[in-house]
Amino acid sequence: MTKYKLEYIWLDGYTPVPNLRGKTQIKEYASFPSLEELPLWGFDGSSTMQAEGHSSDCVLKPVAVYPDGARTNGVLVMCEVMMPDGVTPHASNKRATILDDPGAWFGFEQEYFFYKNSRPLGFPDYGYPPPQGPYYTGVGFANVGDVAREIVEKHLDLCLYAGINHEGINAEVAKGQWEFQIFGKGSRKAADEMWMARYLMLRLTEKYGIDIEFHCKPLGDTDWNGSGMHANFSTAYMREVGGKEYFEALMKEFEKNLHDHIAVYGPDNDKRLTGKHETAPWNKFSYGVADRGASIRVPHSFIKNGYKGYLEDRRPNSQGDPYQIASQILKTISAVPTAAAKAA
Ligand code: ADP
Ligand code: MN
Ligand code: MN
Ligand code: MN
Repeated sequence: MTKYKLEYIWLDGYTPVPNLRGKTQIKEYASFPSLEELPLWGFDGSSTMQAEGHSSDCVLKPVAVYPDGARTNGVLVMCEVMMPDGVTPHASNKRATILDDPGAWFGFEQEYFFYKNSRPLGFPDYGYPPPQGPYYTGVGFANVGDVAREIVEKHLDLCLYAGINHEGINAEVAKGQWEFQIFGKGSRKAADEMWMARYLMLRLTEKYGIDIEFHCKPLGDTDWNGSGMHANFSTAYMREVGGKEYFEALMKEFEKNLHDHIAVYGPDNDKRLTGKHETAPWNKFSYGVADRGASIRVPHSFIKNGYKGYLEDRRPNSQGDPYQIASQILKTISAVPTAAAKAA
């Protein structure tokens, strides 16, 4: 038997966006534990904005498990928060609101800033570094400094070790700003892995004295880019049947539900979705082929393949909760009848 360090990780009850929380328990197993072998656990909800009335116990229900490359015999356990009965999802548990759809695929592009001493990493103590231009996909100390690349590489390795479907990295437009992408098949997989990847990044940067700034417009109304978390999505029907008529009906439904989408696409998005810096104004829905100034970008390949494939919603921001984003996108899609449903 081996003693494993199980890190139970969950989202707290803070609004508008939850924080990651985690605590460790040690348990013996003959080999790396499967999801089914991981017990329910509890925590004090009164310390995480999740307490209900006088009873402060909340239940942690394991929903995904990953090897932890930073710890000997480490196990990362993603959990949903449940009521004391262990079966009713807590009000803060948005993962439980995601429609079940094994054919749904999501790809999230997480942008973020490294921060040191309350300033973007690489910014001088006063004033600004040279303006945006050379930083995006840049190389060299003047562009990326001396530690950012070490961190993103270590983060990549931790994600790959965990089995997270990390797809790539790039230095972003602003100094100190980076991106990574995660893709997953199934309605919850990419969102689970995004939260776990955020956890790994936050934990990794502790020892560098560096914070991750997820706010979508940390430098305010300046010529410094904000951060998004573009959500690329497709369903089996979009990939295999699709068609112009279905696509247009889908876009109508997205337009109709504009406010429901914006409500879960991350706080302060009006400061980012201004119409500048490759964004569409937050209060006007639009779509366009290869248009990075639209709410939804339609890839060239989508049209070429007869309106089949995936779409990119460019509005979700870096602080958005991928569970709530995936949930709303699938809810809107589910309101549009497919050809088969219409014929029936
Ligand atoms: P860009 O920066 O040009 O928008 P990226 O390469 O950063 O492009 O991100 C594209 C994302 O689209 C990736 O996360 C990828 O996994 C995702 N993606 C590709 N094909 C599909 C698909 N069929 N369904 C959902 N997402 C997809
Ligand atoms: Mn990208
Ligand atoms: Mn980007
Ligand atoms: Mn994108």
